[in-house]
This record gives sequence, structure tokens and C-alpha cells, in this order.
Amino acid sequence: MTRNDLANLIFKDLNVSYEDILKKYPKRDLKEGAVVTRYAPSPTGFVHMGNIYAAFIERKIAKQTGGVFYLRIEDTDQKRYVENGIERILEDMKNFHIEFDEGPINELEEKGSYGPYIQSKRKDIYGAFVKHLIECDLAYPCFCSEEDLKNMREHQMEVKDRLGYYGKYAKCRNLSIDEAYKRIQNGEKYVIRFKSQGNFDKKIIFNDLVKGKIEFPENDKDEVILKSSDGLPTYHFAHLVDDFLMGTTHVIRDQNWLSSVPLHLELFKSCGIKPPKYAHISPVNKKDGDAIRKLSKRKDKEAAVSYYHELGIPVPAVIAYIATIANSNFEAWYDNNIDKDLDEFTLTFNKISKSGPLFDVEKLNSIARDYISRLKASEVYDNLLKWTLEFDKDFSDLIQKYKDYTINILNIEREQKKPRKDFYCYSEIKTYIWYMYDELFFKDKLNYEWQNIKDKNEIKEILNNYIDNYYSELDDKDTWFNKMKSLCDNLGYASNMKEYKENPDNYKGSIVDISMVIRVALTTKSMTPDLYDIMKLLGKDRIKERINIL
Ligand code: GLU
Repeated sequence: MTRNDLANLIFKDLNVSYEDILKKYPKRDLKEGAVVTRYAPSPTGFVHMGNIYAAFIERKIAKQTGGVFYLRIEDTDQKRYVENGIERILEDMKNFHIEFDEGPINELEEKGSYGPYIQSKRKDIYGAFVKHLIECDLAYPCFCSEEDLKNMREHQMEVKDRLGYYGKYAKCRNLSIDEAYKRIQNGEKYVIRFKSQGNFDKKIIFNDLVKGKIEFPENDKDEVILKSSDGLPTYHFAHLVDDFLMGTTHVIRDQNWLSSVPLHLELFKSCGIKPPKYAHISPVNKKDGDAIRKLSKRKDKEAAVSYYHELGIPVPAVIAYIATIANSNFEAWYDNNIDKDLDEFTLTFNKISKSGPLFDVEKLNSIARDYISRLKASEVYDNLLKWTLEFDKDFSDLIQKYKDYTINILNIEREQKKPRKDFYCYSEIKTYIWYMYDELFFKDKLNYEWQNIKDKNEIKEILNNYIDNYYSELDDKDTWFNKMKSLCDNLGYASNMKEYKENPDNYKGSIVDISMVIRVALTTKSMTPDLYDIMKLLGKDRIKERINIL
């Protein structure tokens, strides 16, 4: 028996050769310096902020060089399959403006000429590579059972040896070809292991684009590359085959793969393939009391992408925040280039946090506040409408009925040098402007936030006097303010704050108290945007109605 006989027996159903495959996947024709990256999730269907962060970096690095960014579904662990997982991944990514040049576009179709982009559809391709390795004496069948491996592990722990299938522990490594052939013919179960040529006492040094220079012992473990259960490869081998054939130049992935780099580099070397560049990124962290831990999809609501959608936090603001944590120099760039497309910023590996960025919801909200404050009122209206159509049908009806009025409300203290920054999300807007709609104002019992002046008679006296004798819809802001002052003088309140501070006992209160009474009467709130603008939008009749119910 020869090694080729053994390889032919193991892959008796395979009808494609290693050489065929190499021909089928030509090198990509890209311009000098163009980078090819991929986002390679398992199809669990659940995308969280950490994935968006990673995919943002992967996409940006490729696109800014005129390269290719593609999606690859890593479903060799079929236990983790989730229905419609691919569609959900695509949708979540698209919502955060992350689109792929190549890859699956749904469960059945894909675009790009380096596919299939779903690993479970590439079984023959992996088979051809593994077969080639067996023929080159770089892989072998291993018949060790779960029980054998468990005993081996227990023994290694007992004698305090390194865990794993290597050296003297790699029992099947030295089986003769004849014996392996016979055992397979007899129907024994087996996996295929890589035959490592490494030496644990030697070091390998490599340059990780994020972490810098890294030194590890060489790999000497004969890791499993093809599983027995479904004949699919393990991650280690699948990534080698795919990243090679798909022309990935930069593998950007989670740092938990960092310790596998020695194995991966050895695998590439054994296959005679130049490895890609590696960039291992740390997961997004969160401050939890005094501790810093990984942002958790179980514990942190802001880890789920649905959180942003449901609250209506503007996507461009979330993306700007992601860029802020992705590159330490982004924030300064963004401040100076607020109107530019984010794609004009150049992301660099050396500005990516080595230890993982901190996810800070307050910072994100403040970016979102700034972002919304820069929009035109009609844009805020459009976004608000979109949000309400999905999450608040009644309010959506209302703002559509009073479209122009709503835009005017949203325009109060907007489009000025220092615009108001009330809202960070669209779900919040109603809590700030509900009182401007009679349908909402007169709906339930009102909870007025009266301040210094609480006496009902005094409140009524001020309001009636004001509306009957001083208020006119035609007044411009200065006239309006002067009339407020006259009202104060007339009722014994100070119209001049300086005088009031000097002799408070001479007055019942000041102009601040008077405007507060008007503000609270009309809105129930002690804090609102500009009172003059609010009154202008309400108009005299509606102001009167609000005064009359007190
Ligand atoms: N499927 C791997 C994971 O989800 C991806 C690792 C990689 O990007 O190479 O962890």
C-alpha cells in the first residue's frame, strides 16, 4: 500500500483534485496595495456590537485601499446552525452600512467568483486539500476514540505535561499505511490530523498588525483538520483553504485566535502557501463598577443591535461612535470634518486599541445628540416618522396630520450657531414635544411642574392679565419680551434682574418667576425650548384654552 492508496481510499468519492482547484481560483487581479478582508461569522444569526465593530474595521481597511471585502459563512460546526441566520446577518450589517462586495446574498444565492462562500458547500475543496496533505505525508488518519483522548488528557494532567496530541502522545501518527488502510476498510471511525513538523522548544516570531511583534513556541500538535462526524474541516484548516483560495490578504479577527497563529502559520507553510497578514483585535469592553469586562450580549442591552433600532439612535451616529472606538485619532478628525463622509477617514492598524476599546453609552449618546442637532428639522421629521411608523402608530398618525406644525416644533432652536441638543434618539422626541399637541395635552390629568409661584390664584392672575392685556400674536421677540417686563412691573415683580438681586424684598418675585408660570401653564414643564417660539406655534386661542383649564 502506498500513501496515495490510503488517500484514495479516504477520499474515494472525491472527484476534484488539488490541482483542479488551484486552477479554478486564480489570484485576484487587484491594484498594488489593495487589501482583501472578510467578515467570517458562524451563522448563529445573532449580530452584536462587537461584530459590528470588527466588521466595520474589516470593511474599512479593504475599501480604503480599493480592495475587496467579502462575507464568508463559517458553518462547519453544524450544531450552531440557525434558520435564516444568513439573512439576519446581512440585514443587521446593512443597517449599519456594512455591505459586502462578495458573498452570500441569502441562504441560496451569492455574488462573487471566489465562492461558494458558505463553508458547508465547500466540502470537496477541503477534501482535495486534505488528500494532498496525506499524499505528502503531512496528514494522517487518527482512530483514537473520545475515551482514548480523555485518558490521555487525564494522564497529562496527572504528570503535569502539556495537554494535546503531540510527540509521544500522538499514537496514530506512526501507524503503518497498511494498518491505517485496513482499519478504514474495517469501518473504524477516524478523523484526519495534521502531521506537525514543529518543535515546541523553538520559537516563532511574527508581526501582528494590531498587537505588534509576538513570540510563541512553535506548534507541535497534530490538530484535527477533518472531523469524522460530517467530514467537514475544523476552523483551523477551513480558514487556511478559504483565505488562500479567496485571496484574503489580511485576516482581521478576534484575539482569541492569536494563540492558534503558530498552528496556522505551520499549516500554511506545509501547504506551500504564503500566509495572509494577521491582525487580532481585542473585543469591545465595558466598565462595570471598578472592573473592565467584555461587552456581553447577555448582560448589556447596548450589545444587541436591536437596542439601537428600538430606541431609534441614528445609525450614522452609531457608526461615528464605532469609528471613534476603532481608531484613537478618529474623534479629532471627525470634529474637523463633520460634513465629510466617514469613508474619507483613513483607518490604521496601529491606532486600533491593543487591549480593546471601552464601550461608553454616554459618549455614544453625546455623538448622537450632536448628530441630530445638525440635521434640518425636516430630516429629523422624516427619521422620526420612520421610527414612529414602526414603534408608535398613534404618534405617527399625529405627526403626519400636523406635518408642517411638527417640523416647526422640531425647528425650535435648530439651525443656529449653538443648536439645542435635546434628543439622542427618535424614541425620546415625543417626551420632549408631546405637550405641543392638543390631542396629547388634553388627554390625561396633567402634572404641572410649578416652581416658586404655586398659588393658584396668583398663577391665574398672572396668566389672565398677560393674555388679556399684553399678548399679541403679531409681536416680534423684542416686543414680546418688553411686554413681559411691563407685566412684571404692573404686578409687582422685578423686570430687571440686577435690581431684583439688590433688593429682593421690594418684589413679589422676578421676571424669571413670571415666565416660569407661563411656561409651566402652557407645557406643564419647567424646562422647555424657547418660550416665545412655543407660544408662536400654539397661537393665542390655544394658549387661552390652556390657561382656562387651570
Ligand atoms: N468563524 C470564526 C468565528 O466566528 C471567525 C474567525 C475569523 O474571522 O477567522 O470566530
